[in-house]
Amino acid sequence: MLETKVCIVGAGPAGTAAALQLAQLGIHCVVVDKAVFPRDKVCGDGLSGKVITALNKIDPAIATRLKEANFKVNSWGVTFVSPGRHSLDVGYRPDYNSSNQQHKETPIGYVCKRMDFDNFLVDEVRRRSEITLLEGVTVDKYELKEDGYYVTGSNDFKVKADLLIIANGAHSSFTKEVANITMEPEHYVAGIRAYYKNVSGNNADNFIELHFLKDLLPGYFWIFPLPNGEANVGVGVLSEAVRKKKMNLKKSMLDIIANDPVFKERFKDAELVSSIDGYGLPLGSKQRVISGERYMLVGDAAYLIDPFTGEGIGNGLYSGRIAALQAAEALKANDTSAAQLAKYDSEIYRILGPELKLSHRLQKLVKYPWLFNTLMKISSRNKQLQELLSCMFYEVDLRKKLAKPSFYVKLLFNR
Ligand SMILES: Cc1cc2nc3c(=O)[nH]c(=O)nc-3n(C[C@H](O)[C@H](O)[C@H](O)COP(=O)(O)OP(=O)(O)OC[C@H]3O[C@@H](n4cnc5c(N)ncnc54)[C@H](O)[C@@H]3O)c2cc1C
Repeated sequence: MLETKVCIVGAGPAGTAAALQLAQLGIHCVVVDKAVFPRDKVCGDGLSGKVITALNKIDPAIATRLKEANFKVNSWGVTFVSPGRHSLDVGYRPDYNSSNQQHKETPIGYVCKRMDFDNFLVDEVRRRSEITLLEGVTVDKYELKEDGYYVTGSNDFKVKADLLIIANGAHSSFTKEVANITMEPEHYVAGIRAYYKNVSGNNADNFIELHFLKDLLPGYFWIFPLPNGEANVGVGVLSEAVRKKKMNLKKSMLDIIANDPVFKERFKDAELVSSIDGYGLPLGSKQRVISGERYMLVGDAAYLIDPFTGEGIGNGLYSGRIAALQAAEALKANDTSAAQLAKYDSEIYRILGPELKLSHRLQKLVKYPWLFNTLMKISSRNKQLQELLSCMFYEVDLRKKLAKPSFYVKLLFNR
């Protein structure tokens, strides 16, 4: 049986971030994943500025290597389109200006297939002697004993760990059975994704596009440009709405592409080059208890996806890093109790909470098409709101002002 200070279950963005941060701190860990990398993950493949910011905090050399990687396209922002087809371009950098060439030297958002991005992170893990990576091992049992967590899985996998970092994504059995967090349709999105070739009409600076079409509210149809003339195309809708309206997301997406007056033109010469696959998005629109005796949940296993944009990779990386820092503190204090690890919850909701709250408010707003249309009209004239929306993608620490109700009062009444 292996013995380790920290065992990380799942080698997606959240698990690899935790492992890499632990390695930076000189702490050995075991990382186990049921997949063998490279592996696919159903996703929109959009990496906002938060991804580079998080990697930079873990190790600037990793951020540099990602910037230099050629499996991605550089993206400078997001286009939001309201049900009334008002569109608003929000740069990832608050100083974005489409006619200014200077911003083009420092892209901070990317689109790349998860097959490539996650393999990049796993390669970073492979570089580190402090990390033992085990692939092709499905963990299926967790036993808490006096002296540690005993974890077992396929291929005779057995490990005893002082601490567990649970990073096994949206369908984590640990989250459900040990942490008692269950799927609630009002805090969960159902998403599907497909790859297309030759979609026309893309933004020159590779903005990702979120189209809040009336029938999908409070969800959206997306088009994210990829290298080699491909695009990631998909639909994500709140599970509550999917159930209520008895929606078939695959049918809705194909219907939009074939019949919507704008998209049938843009997809005229497009070709579907993949299967259409679905997966869940556990939203951070509700605060939960995400740690306990000898464990912390990170990424999707901790329900941390942005309820408005559907972004989970950045929060996955942030939470993995924060869990590693808290693990280091707990091990140093020789205290892995629930009370000690509750500091992890405090850190997560201090850092990510304000933005999650704002995004939840925005998600609620977009249920009402007229309100959304109005908000988009205001935003297109309101520099302050545009800059703030940019900050949502740029730097978590800048978002504190978003939590202040006075901001919204000013926004709505002082235009
Ligand atoms: C349709 C869709 C579109 C999305 N679009 C975007 C987007 O454009 N941008 C964005 O930022 N986010 C997006 N997200 C969210 C994003 O995909 C997730 O937030 C992100 O993958 C979370 O990372 P993670 O490391 O927590 O989990 P995951 O990436 O799911 O990784 C979990 C890992 O755990 C492993 N695992 C699972 N069970 C076990 C087990 N029992 N034993 C061992 N290993 C196990 C898996 O093999 C996997 O490698 C989207 C999600 C969906 C479904």
